[in-house]
Amino acid sequence: MHHAAPSHVHPVHLVGAGPGDPELLTLKAVRVLRAATVILVDDLVGPQVLASALAGCARSPRVIHVGKRGGCASTPQDFIEKLMVREALAGEKVVRLKGGDPLVFGRAGEEIAALRDAGLAVEVVNGITAGLGAAAALGVGWTDRRVGAQATLLVTGHAQPGSPGPDWAALGATAAGGVTLVIYMGVSQLARIVQGLRETLPATLPAAVVQHASTGAERRLLSTLGSLVADVAAQGVGSPAVLIIGEVVREADAQLMPTSSTSKTSVAFGGMTPPAPRGP
Ligand code: SAH
Repeated sequence: MHHAAPSHVHPVHLVGAGPGDPELLTLKAVRVLRAATVILVDDLVGPQVLASALAGCARSPRVIHVGKRGGCASTPQDFIEKLMVREALAGEKVVRLKGGDPLVFGRAGEEIAALRDAGLAVEVVNGITAGLGAAAALGVGWTDRRVGAQATLLVTGHAQPGSPGPDWAALGATAAGGVTLVIYMGVSQLARIVQGLRETLPATLPAAVVQHASTGAERRLLSTLGSLVADVAAQGVGSPAVLIIGEVVREADAQLMPTSSTSKTSVAFGGMTPPAPRGP
């Protein structure tokens, strides 16, 4: 049921923090953060992002960390929603700061529904999603028409509890027709994802992984579908990372390639020593 919000109540802002580089925050995100009295932060949001947005701010907002980190239980979603509602109804200017864009694998739908149910107004401030941060790191477009990429699919590699998760063979069949796959939360399930995709996609298809896109810790790995699992294991690339799979990856910035490399397969970047070339 919807109730009318009292007049001292402010809209709640769901704000995208971008992929990590503080300079990729929007001007609107910075303005809203600086006006906030309570900020609920996911831990995919790097500390520099918030610090930079609030630099020189006269008042310090209350900052509440509500994310999950490396295997620890996340703050229950229900608790986060209740907290936002309670703080907003108490007259606080509440910002929910999320990595990337709140509308991409960000549970924004659930939070917007909970806020609306409480009679609160909600405003979304877009951020740059990690998949675009990864594309920028590689210097490739999602929809490069020169290689016939007509569409891009954003896919989660993480199945909801009780759900079988994406049908990777079927997604692969779709991608075979000029679709770029951008896979979030895929590193821990990589072997299973690649096994499914390989039912319908060739081993030679270019594939890339970008970890910590847009940050000082960024790591890029260019490979192929056939070598991806071994390359990721060999290079120790982990979360958070985005996979980009498709012909567009062939266009990855040649400057990223070590000049000694003869093949894009099994080459890692980001200051890492490339592995010895493999046999054919
Ligand atoms: N709303 C976020 C996505 C949240 S899901 C967005 O729009 O970007 C969390 C996943 O995002 C991670 O598992 C990883 O796949 C990806 N991710 C977030 N930040 C990243 C970064 N800096 N580099 C690479 N991947 C990132």
